[in-house]
Amino acid sequence: MISEGHERPLACWRGKERHNGTILECLTVIFKTAGCAWNQCLMCGYRHERFASMESIMGQERHLLSQLAWVQERYRPHDYQMVKIFTSGSFFDLLEIPRSVMQKIAAAFRGKLVIAETRPEFVTDETIIPFLGEIDDGSWNTPLYCAIGLETSDDRVREKCIRKGFLYKDFIGAARHAQTLGAGVKAYLLLKPLFLTEREAIDDMKSSIYDVLHHTDLISMNPCTVQGHTELEWYWRQGAYRPPYLWSVLSVLDDTPVPITCDPVGGGRKRGPHNCGSCDKVIVQGIRDYSLNGDRELIASMLETECACKEEWHHVLDQEMPFCMPLTR
Ligand code: SF4
Ligand SMILES: [Zn+2]
Repeated sequence: MISEGHERPLACWRGKERHNGTILECLTVIFKTAGCAWNQCLMCGYRHERFASMESIMGQERHLLSQLAWVQERYRPHDYQMVKIFTSGSFFDLLEIPRSVMQKIAAAFRGKLVIAETRPEFVTDETIIPFLGEIDDGSWNTPLYCAIGLETSDDRVREKCIRKGFLYKDFIGAARHAQTLGAGVKAYLLLKPLFLTEREAIDDMKSSIYDVLHHTDLISMNPCTVQGHTELEWYWRQGAYRPPYLWSVLSVLDDTPVPITCDPVGGGRKRGPHNCGSCDKVIVQGIRDYSLNGDRELIASMLETECACKEEWHHVLDQEMPFCMPLTR
């Protein structure tokens, strides 16, 4: 029976994920929390989805447990094997997810393969060890992956175009620490942050993938989308930003040393990665299929297909000029 009064998380849905060559049923949950401790990334809309600032700690815990109860009432544990957890910021920030709530979430997902997103500074002994100990029932060699939004391995791009507030060496430190504690690491990389040309964005993504390859267990490429109430949206409205072409997404996927996953959120829409409108649907579906089946020939064959917008994409790659960002103040 579904009881009344439990709060919805920001989002929660079922899907499939490829992991170590097999397809797993996956539950994705985005918990609403007190908000991201950093709260400054130029493209991030989730940071605005937070509890009111006057909410007490007790109130926050109640809201979080209510969201967890909502999830437990609707999704039966034996229907999925993997859980991806996001919050308004970082799952392992104790100011967002208090220790007692974190342990209840761990108990709820015991035996699942958990991928939890966090900034690198929250990968600590005091968060990872108890959480990992609680979810691990021996079902998985690596029951927990810390997913970190590195976005790019280039510190200047991360600082100037994303305003992420941490360095590549911080990511590497967190990755090593997580692995020492028995957790895996997933890197989220952002295709085409603000101020990069289409060509620069492709080059940045390719070099980032090579750089992180030996420091992570999983890599996911996120083609940038224009979320509401963000600085990125402001530039987009001025015509100073265009989300990446789907051709660019394909060209990266076609050239990675190992298969990586990619969910083109908002694919084919003007705020998401898109081409001309007529070829988008097939390519978006193909990219989603590739993330599940790892079939590189599918990517190569889609990259060979013809559409009038492909010439436009080549023109953009050749002719788009970089913005000038000062290095000093
Ligand atoms: S992208 Fe992550 S770190 Fe940046 S503001 Fe959003 S939630 Fe915070
Ligand atoms: Zn087209």
